[in-house]
Amino acid sequence: VDHAGQVTYKKKSTTMLMTCIQTGIRQFVGGLAAEPRRDLLVQDFSITESLFFPSGRSYFLVRGIKKAIEGSTLTPAHHYSDFRFKAYAPIAFRYFRELFGIQPDDFLLSMCNDPLTELSNPGASGSIFYITDDEEFIIKTLQHKEAEFLQKLLPGYYMCGGKNIRFIVMNNLLPLSVRLHEKYDLKGSSYKRRASKREKAKHSPTLKDLDFLANHPEGIYLEADTYSALINTMQRDCRVLQSFQIMDYSLLVGIHNLDQALKDKNQAGDLAGDSAASCGAASTTSVSTGVGPSQKESTTSGDAAARARSFSRGRSMKQRLAQYSTAMESIQATTEPLAVEDEDIPAGGIPARNHRGERIFLYIGIIDILQNYRMAKKLEHTFKSMLHEGDTISVHRPGFYAQRFQTFFAERVFKKIPSSLKQSPIKRK
Ligand code: ATP
Ligand code: CA
Ligand code: CA
Repeated sequence: VDHAGQVTYKKKSTTMLMTCIQTGIRQFVGGLAAEPRRDLLVQDFSITESLFFPSGRSYFLVRGIKKAIEGSTLTPAHHYSDFRFKAYAPIAFRYFRELFGIQPDDFLLSMCNDPLTELSNPGASGSIFYITDDEEFIIKTLQHKEAEFLQKLLPGYYMCGGKNIRFIVMNNLLPLSVRLHEKYDLKGSSYKRRASKREKAKHSPTLKDLDFLANHPEGIYLEADTYSALINTMQRDCRVLQSFQIMDYSLLVGIHNLDQALKDKNQAGDLAGDSAASCGAASTTSVSTGVGPSQKESTTSGDAAARARSFSRGRSMKQRLAQYSTAMESIQATTEPLAVEDEDIPAGGIPARNHRGERIFLYIGIIDILQNYRMAKKLEHTFKSMLHEGDTISVHRPGFYAQRFQTFFAERVFKKIPSSLKQSPIKRK
């Protein structure tokens, strides 16, 4: 924040940055529509395209007379100083968007139609985060090394002012429209993994491993199928991350507590003088399903679209853009969220229970994956934490990180639900 109270990044106001990002994306993604669809070639991963965006009004002289044109012939007018926008591997990213079912028009609508909102970043890197108005995407500024590394990763995915500001657009993992009662950034380490006082004082703090273990000493309970699907997915992800020598990533875990939310809602209703009886009337409708084990006929494993449709049935939110953008879809579990349709059940989360037997929904995903071993060597913190926990073999560090990560989630964070919790009667609102 500068002396005038403006939020800045590399001495540029972040409002300007947002507008430039939107202007650039609109131009590039819009322009790509004219390029025919084709298979990716190896050079598509390393190509960068750059375009100059002169500010609102530029002048040129026609036979001695000053004439003004809006922007340039290629680029639209804008009210900030001139800037250059560089797109990394635009054709490759177009391919990935298509792979994830993100239509160009929808992407542009999400990215450019409404102003972005800046999020506060609990991380230490100094990156700035923006979220799109429809909550579909997150934009994160990257360091030079991170951008370079992302470019190196791209082929792998395929087989399987004077200042440069690099950024990445990623799926938003945590819906703003669902109240998250708790939020954790977990690495499977205990070394200095407690959120700061300053973070904890925030309205919706991001807590860390030690906070999680204190709040959930018994972990979080999942239906057996959901547990296996989740752990399996995480293991596959870790194997890929390890193969790229990536470490220092986290699992972001957002928790919506349905029972807490219903309690709060009823209390608010009571305070407002609502007849409590009318709320209580429905409370005998017990759901026999615990975490939602009504096993429906498992869909043909390849039919992702059908699966996505079936999950979207009970949704109150609009259909999400990306095919695997919700946590539940991404682990490809066949468990239905809950047997009954209920407006209070949030969309897309993974159904679970806490140790008190309360119904919770999890929003999760692996984040911050652009640190690889060579860069991480400079991250003293990461190495101290590994030595602290018994890593002695230096060459296997990404493997050690992945193993510790997986074990932590498979054994301490997530548990298969014991039948005692499953059978406990569930109070409805
Ligand atoms: P550091 O390197 O110090 O850990 P960073 O600046 O690289 O920090 P990240 O670890 O990528 O930041 O993210 C910081 C926080 O931003 C996360 O703990 C999470 O709360 C939020 N966040 C990051 N990515 C996403 C995402 N895709 N969806 C929702 N929230 C996110
Ligand atoms: Ca991080
Ligand atoms: Ca980081």
